[in-house]
Order: sequence, then C-alpha cells, then structure tokens
Amino acid sequence: MFGGAAGFYFLTQRDRTPGAQAPFDPEKKTVVVLGSGWGATSLLSTLDTKDYNVVVISPKNYFLFTPLLPSVAVGTLNPRSIIQPTRYITRHKSRNVSVIEAEATDVDPTNKTVTFTDNSEIKGATSSTSIKYDYLVYAVGAEVQTFNIPGVKEHAVFMKELQDAERMQRGFMDCLETAAFPGQLPEEVDRLLHMVVVGGGPTGVELSGELHNFLEDDLKSWYPELAGKVKITLVEALPSVLPMFSKQLISYTESTFKESKIDILTKTMVKEVKERSVVLQMPDKSIKEVPCGLVVWAAGNKGRKITQDLMAKLPADQTNRRGITVDDSLRMKGAEDIFSIGDCTATSYAPTAQVASQQGAYLARVLHQLAKKDRLEKELKNLESLDVEGDQEKARVQKEIAVTRSKISKIQPKPFHYSHQGTLAYIGSEKAIADLPFMNGNIASGGVATFLFWRSAYLSTLFSLRNRTLVATDWLKVKLFGRDVSRE
Ligand code: FAD
Ligand code: MG
Repeated sequence: MFGGAAGFYFLTQRDRTPGAQAPFDPEKKTVVVLGSGWGATSLLSTLDTKDYNVVVISPKNYFLFTPLLPSVAVGTLNPRSIIQPTRYITRHKSRNVSVIEAEATDVDPTNKTVTFTDNSEIKGATSSTSIKYDYLVYAVGAEVQTFNIPGVKEHAVFMKELQDAERMQRGFMDCLETAAFPGQLPEEVDRLLHMVVVGGGPTGVELSGELHNFLEDDLKSWYPELAGKVKITLVEALPSVLPMFSKQLISYTESTFKESKIDILTKTMVKEVKERSVVLQMPDKSIKEVPCGLVVWAAGNKGRKITQDLMAKLPADQTNRRGITVDDSLRMKGAEDIFSIGDCTATSYAPTAQVASQQGAYLARVLHQLAKKDRLEKELKNLESLDVEGDQEKARVQKEIAVTRSKISKIQPKPFHYSHQGTLAYIGSEKAIADLPFMNGNIASGGVATFLFWRSAYLSTLFSLRNRTLVATDWLKVKLFGRDVSRE
C-alpha cells in the first residue's frame, strides 16, 4: 500500500519536472505541426525530436479527449479533467519543441510557408507572422457540419469543443430552473424540459445516455417535481442509429433507450431550428414543429476554411469535397512535403480518434525514416565528392558508395495500415456496447460488464497519469456526492 503510494508520487513528480532539452539545431530540418488534437498529439508523443526541429501551432494550447466530452456536458466530469496542455508532452521530448498558440490562416505549398495569427483575446504588438517548413504535418481536424440548415448556428448547441459541453451544461440547467419558475404553465414546462439531440452517431447516443443518467441519478433528488417531465428525443436522418455497430447492438441500444424513455426518431430530418422549437420532416415527409428547450447538434463534419483554401491551390490533385487526398504514406497529393492525418483527410476510414492517433504514430515513424534517409544522402554526397588517391583507396570509397546507395534504396516507408481495435459506445444506465475484433470474428457485447470495460479502456487510453487520476477522481466524486446542479 505504502509502496504503491510512493511509486505513484514518484511518477507524478517525474511528469511534473521535465529535464533540460537540447536546443534547436540549424543543421536539422524543421517539422511544423498544425493542430493539437488526436492526430497531432499522437504524432508528438511518438516523434523522435533528435531528428528534427519541431514547431506546433494550434489555437488551443491543449489536447482534448473528445470521447468523454458528453460526460462534461452533464457535469459527470470536470472540463479540466479531459484536457491536457500540449507542453506537458513537448517538454518531455529530448529536443526543445516550440508550442505556439495561434491559428494557421494560410499554407503556401510552393514556398513551403505557414502564416499564423494570435486570435486570442490578448494580443501583443506582434500577432501575425509566417514560418518556413521542411515538412508540414497538417492535422487541423474538421468543423461542425450544419448543412446550412437555418437556425442551427444560432440556436443549437454543438458538441465538438470543450466550450460546447460547458454551454450545454449551463443551457440544460437553465431549462430546469426556468421550468421551476413560479406560475410557468404546464405546456411551457413541457417545452423547457424537452431535450432534442440531433445525430444518431456515437456522440448523440452517448449524450442522450448521459442526459438520462443525470435525470435518474440527480434530478430525482433535487428537482423531484420536474424529473418525471423531462423528455429526451434523439433525431437521426438515416434508417438506424449507430450504423457502424452490428445489428444486435443497435437493437440492444434501442431497447435500452426505450426503457430509459428516450425517443428515437429515425428517417427524420431537421429542417430548421428555432429559438423555442425544432422543425422536423418525418419519415412520411410530413412537417412537424416540435417545441423544445434545448437542441444539441452532433451531426457530422465538414472541412475547415484553411483546408478548402489549401486544396484550392492544388486543383489538379485535390478534388475530393470530403477533404484532403493523401497517398498510402499519408503525403498530400500534389504537395511533396505536406503530410495530412485525421479528420481533415478524405480516406476510406471513418473520422475517428482511433484512426487519427494511429496515423499520427505511423507518421512519426515515417519521419524518423526520412531523417535517416537524409543523413545517408548527406553521407553519399560527401563520399562522392571525395578526391582520393590510389586504386585501393578508390575501390574502398566506391564500395562504400554502393553500400550507402543500397541502404538508401531500402528505406521505403511501408503503407499506412489501420488496425481496428473495436468500437465502443456508452449508452447510459451504466451500460455500454462494444464491437471488438477478436480472433477472426466480432465480439458484440452489451451491459454492465461492457460498461466497466469501457471505463477502463478509456482510462488507459487517456494520455497521462494526471488525466487518468483526474477522471477517476471525478467518477468517484459523482458516485459519492452526485453531480453538481449549480448553474455557473
Ligand atoms: P482534432 O482532434 O479535432 O484536432 C484538430 C486540432 O487542430 C485541434 O487541436 C484544433 O484546435 C486545431 N486547429 C483547428 N484549426 C486550426 C488552424 N487553423 N491552425 C492550427 N490548428 C488548428 N472517435 C473515436 O474514435 N471514439 C470516440 O469515442 C469518439 N468520440 C467522440 C466524441 C465527440 C463529442 C467528438 C466531437 C468526437 C469523437 N470522436 C471519437 C472523433 C474524434 O474526436 C475525431 O475523429 C478526432 O478528434 C480526429 O482527430 P484530428 O487530430 O484529426 O482532429
Ligand atoms: Mg494571445
């Protein structure tokens, strides 16, 4: 027991006090990384900084653990528990990594430069500049897709950034307190307590599940007069929710939701979001205006403006509207020295954290190989420019040249290969579902055991001991004291 505590303390202090780092080396190439999300963070943790000078540019100076965002939205987790400052990673690298909080606004693939701007509230005298790269890792992720449906931007809450989850928590609590206002008519109470979640992917499903938990665990205690009146509706345009899961898990989710009194509307399209309602097109094409207190929008990705601009500069190679086209070693088509990973790319893989993080780790290995190749090519140049006397000496150099050439030709990055570790989703009521590739088939499982597995799987994929501890502590706090229902 004491040994464990001492070991834990030792690990925390090792993480807290990074040592000295080697300075930038003008002889080395510069890798500029855009983004601090799943792809970029995984790359940074794996990248060998002995090979390169590394610069990270992102408007967020932290990594956000997106799978747990729905838990923040209902106050199960503290927002700060699921973010990790990027410097906590880069300061542990062997060479200094420069972390810049700024938004990249332009990439010039011809002159190999990136322009970036400090868009934060506080700006200094200098707030916009450009930098040259030898290699660019483009990992800016995607934006929320609204399909230009009227009112979505103005009235719905997104579920993408940390601020979105906090906004949802405040909005939800506001609905409750407003419904509790004296003299509120029953119809208005029903409207305020109707929560509509749009998007039947894992995010929408998890969010509905979390909302239901909040209802069961906490609202019954603190708002007994309202708890029974809260209604959750999940809207999905496709014929089923969670299309990436196997059939039996979809039905398991549907029946769990039925028990939880969460309404699932499939083949239903949102036509407009208003301040106090949502306009739906039902499966029979009829139009229905449904009063509600809160609409949460979790329905898909679209490319960022900077990505569209960059693609427009390479019109011959970049024509996929879904995102950046890359080759099988993740190089951007039409731009030799740009690599692109994660949600900003258009590949055959789903836009998931699993894919982005595997791509990041893969790319770190590719960059390591490229550095090795660069070193050998330099050696080759030196050998070729040697002016040697004597046949024996000449033969020795010739041989060395041949050996170096063959070493260089052997450095061929293997194509990226995605290894699917399984698909997990939390569906509320302490239940989760998982499709796990196992042996040669799929294990589909649902229920409380899967939920425990889900929690431990997430805890072990969170990047740091610090975050694992924060999340575990939050879970324990909620178990002991329930969620906080105060509204900030
Ligand atoms: P991101 O992680 O989005 O990172 C993009 C980074 O680029 C961010 O740091 C951003 O600040 C930065 N950036 C933005 N604009 C610029 C700019 N102009 N210049 C520089 N930097 C910029 N996937 C799973 O596999 N399992 C799950 O359970 C899961 N749950 C999810 C739950 C939610 C609520 C959400 C929103 C997503 C979930 N995902 C999940 C999907 C997963 O989060 C994404 O696929 C993943 O984040 C993609 O990684 P990325 O690095 O491409 O982009
Ligand atoms: Mg600033």
